[in-house]
Amino acid sequence: MPPSTLVIGGGLIGLATACSLARDGRSTCLIDPDIAPRGASWGNAGHIATEQVAPLASRATIRSFPRRLYWRGGALSLPIGSLPHWLPFSLRLLSAARPVRFEQGKAVLKNLLAEAMPAWERLTRDTGTAHLLRPSGHYIIWESEHSAAKGREAWLSADCGTAHMRNARPNELKHLSSLTKNCVADALFCEGSGQITDLGALADKLRTALLQLGGTIRQGRIRKLDIDHGKARARLSDGTPIEADTIIVAAGARSGDLLRPLGHHVPIIDERGYHIESPINSDRWPEDMPPVVFEDRSMIVTRFLTGLRAASFVEFSRPGAAPDPSKWGRLHHHVRDLGLPIEEDAKPWYGSRPTLPDYLPAIGKSDRAHNLFYAFGHQHLGLTLAAVTGEMMSMLLKDTLPSSALSLTRFI
Ligand SMILES: Cc1cc2nc3c(=O)[nH]c(=O)nc-3n(C[C@H](O)[C@H](O)[C@H](O)COP(=O)(O)OP(=O)(O)OC[C@H]3O[C@@H](n4cnc5c(N)ncnc54)[C@H](O)[C@@H]3O)c2cc1C
Repeated sequence: MPPSTLVIGGGLIGLATACSLARDGRSTCLIDPDIAPRGASWGNAGHIATEQVAPLASRATIRSFPRRLYWRGGALSLPIGSLPHWLPFSLRLLSAARPVRFEQGKAVLKNLLAEAMPAWERLTRDTGTAHLLRPSGHYIIWESEHSAAKGREAWLSADCGTAHMRNARPNELKHLSSLTKNCVADALFCEGSGQITDLGALADKLRTALLQLGGTIRQGRIRKLDIDHGKARARLSDGTPIEADTIIVAAGARSGDLLRPLGHHVPIIDERGYHIESPINSDRWPEDMPPVVFEDRSMIVTRFLTGLRAASFVEFSRPGAAPDPSKWGRLHHHVRDLGLPIEEDAKPWYGSRPTLPDYLPAIGKSDRAHNLFYAFGHQHLGLTLAAVTGEMMSMLLKDTLPSSALSLTRFI
């Protein structure tokens, strides 16, 4: 019998990991309570952000906090009712933003991002989903000369890893202006980033590929993990135990709930984002239009095959807190201001990025049980890093991954 592996969590990280392991010949079972894809993995902006090599735990981010606050028109929301969650997280973020830790984190993230696009190419090729990956690049635009001057300078002097920023050409500026009520003062184009064109189709196809590789998908929620003689075992909501040679926790923002009772330090927070999306005709927004970041508004607009989506916000919430409808109102306000073809009855969505204070994922092997592994905490880059994470988990289980700086022990 091939070794059995239980992957907890069917978001992008769990699914990419499960596909990698099934391809290695492991008998892989993916478990998730949701049949229909609902988590952050399926509501994100679809952007393969290879350029974001600087972890958000940085001095620059901290300096920008005041102007980014939601009540001042920015995207950062710190709900007072969730203070017991975001205050300890913020203190850890401050510590992770120290220059030495920032530089270490950047080196790690840069390496991961360098492999992000090649890993997506391999995963989509192997799972028959290559048509959903578009190495389209993306635009960053500004609406005033002042913000354009500052933003351009910052991006053009930044380390963008394998991606490359260039000035938008006159015909590109004209096109962007025609799509946005002439709001564009200036723009850059990023070469080397990309997008997934249909996240729902990606979910379906990756699940199908997993089944074709001999894997199984089970609907259910793991309530807890316990350890018996050094071996982890999962328990379903009704208490039924599930034995597996290997267990991988890839439950996004809920991963801490499973790992903390075992003694792991998991300072994860729900970092919520919101989007609105409506169907779109190609004459209103071309199908091959790359994602557009409206940097003055901290909003990204992505043309999916299914519609046009505007996404934004960084809301540090307690788990289970009700969504804040004013965030959707703000997105509609931006859309109206810019004249974007997203309708008033656009579908609203919100979901949680799984974020650790140093803005690096946790990928590693538990020191509590010999068969327990984890992959979560991919913050703003979970889509970008899903395929490379799957490959790393495969190497980790084969013991061929060079020692990683992404172990949870960094939080002790
Ligand atoms: C508005 C927004 C825009 C974003 N845009 C981008 C982008 O453009 N590019 C990018 O790279 N990233 C983006 N992200 C981030 C990205 O979506 C996340 O990092 C990524 O989805 C995390 O994937 P995940 O699989 O770890 O978590 P999730 O997608 O949250 O999946 C976790 C899964 O685990 C399951 N689960 C939880 N608990 C249990 C349990 N006890 N038992 C079994 N299953 C369980 C859940 O049901 C869920 O399906 C964005 C996020 C948001 C919110």
